[in-house]
Amino acid sequence: MPPTHSPPSSHHLPSNPQIKRFLEATDDTELNKFVKDFPGSESCHQPEAKTWVSRPQVLEPKPQAPDLYQDDLEFKGPSWPQPSDSQQYFSASAPLSPSARPRSPWGKLDPYDSSEDDKEYVGFATLPNQVHRKSVKKGFDFTLMVAGESGLGKSTLVNSLFLTDLYRDRKLLGAEERIMQTVEITKHAVDIEEKGVRLRLTIVDTPGFGDAVNNTECWKPVAEYIDQQFEQYFRDESGLNRKNIQDNRVHCCLYFISPFGHGLRPLDVEFMKALHQRVNIVPILAKADTLTPPEVERKKRKIREEIEHFGIKVYQFPDCDSDEDEDFKLQDQALKESIPFAVIGSNTVVEARGRRVRGRLYPWGIVEVENPGHCDFVKLRTMLVRTHMQDLKDVTRETHYENYRAQCIQSMTRLVVKERNRNKLTRESGTDFPIPAVPPGTDPETERLIREKDEEVRAVWGGRG
Ligand code: GDP
Repeated sequence: MPPTHSPPSSHHLPSNPQIKRFLEATDDTELNKFVKDFPGSESCHQPEAKTWVSRPQVLEPKPQAPDLYQDDLEFKGPSWPQPSDSQQYFSASAPLSPSARPRSPWGKLDPYDSSEDDKEYVGFATLPNQVHRKSVKKGFDFTLMVAGESGLGKSTLVNSLFLTDLYRDRKLLGAEERIMQTVEITKHAVDIEEKGVRLRLTIVDTPGFGDAVNNTECWKPVAEYIDQQFEQYFRDESGLNRKNIQDNRVHCCLYFISPFGHGLRPLDVEFMKALHQRVNIVPILAKADTLTPPEVERKKRKIREEIEHFGIKVYQFPDCDSDEDEDFKLQDQALKESIPFAVIGSNTVVEARGRRVRGRLYPWGIVEVENPGHCDFVKLRTMLVRTHMQDLKDVTRETHYENYRAQCIQSMTRLVVKERNRNKLTRESGTDFPIPAVPPGTDPETERLIREKDEEVRAVWGGRG
């Protein structure tokens, strides 16, 4: 497996060789075994539905103790050190003798459990494992949007990427029905589990995009959908019940470009320009097997130039740290130069050179989806799943959602100022705070929470006025 973000480089590690050894020795197998065996951790392998929810990311740092400690209480097993025990760690001037030490639930993974010589351990070297354990327990979620003209191989590629059949119930429209077709937004969700790690994958599709005779502004429903998810999240995190927010924000949009045109079409430019401030766009050159290698290179170069020319901001891969190892840097460079990813999709397994591979069988030969010499499928999958999934989520949260939130707050503030000025003129004692109307169809409980929150905000703004 190619390296993800590399482990902390040696100068970040404590100089003590025991800690270093512990960090190096802690692999997933041991961790999973611990998670299985640890008393009280049954919920890890038999999760209840309620544990399988996406949790809001804390946008602003809180002054209290980190979330890591607050939220992990339910995992506490009978042998977990009690507060009084931990008090002892911190108040003791010298480390306790091994027999007096509280038993660690980490067993042999815990440097605290090491030999008599290792007296200087406090135990914080287990922090990465605690974070790992908590994340594994909670599971991960990711929302991927696919957009582009129909027939470019979007569904085939999604199925090939995640080895699932997400489009079982898809109904394809005939030419006549498509003439006036409007863009729909559909969602497919699937829970995937791999080596004990669960991923809730949501695919947002845009059937009908670019299909009608007149495609003017057909990006609008897509932009509205993305904004609605931000709005919902904004309302939820401003409400009282922030614990169980369902996060449906779109983390990445794979935008499919036809291999048959000469670079970008006006529709592609319009779509990407309208969406690039809202979502991480990753451009894809579809059906690369219909092009020769020089054609692929030429088209890629042209598309890159046009993206630059039209000021489109597609997803930018973060720069490597300077202390990253050389292989990782090369891999990162290759990834950046592959944009737009030229891909081939297939849901068929064929026999090539005595091996069974996912590919497309033609009279003149076989194209293999996972052969890096044939297309960028593996690079795309590596980027999306193995190396940049978390970064895509971070950019969504820290850039796209923050932009939306800032705009919302700005327009709310403008409304307040306008309202205040109006009230001054009419000499009314107005402190009304105009919160955007509750969307129609909101259930009474949500309405009540929103009303309570509105009143809180009014009180704060009234107090300042
Ligand atoms: P969508 O409408 O964009 O979801 O496209 P589909 O995934 O339904 O694919 C449309 C047609 O293109 C199907 O017949 C696929 O078998 C075919 N197809 C999908 N991916 C590729 C590809 O990479 N190369 C070629 N040549 N055909 C493909």
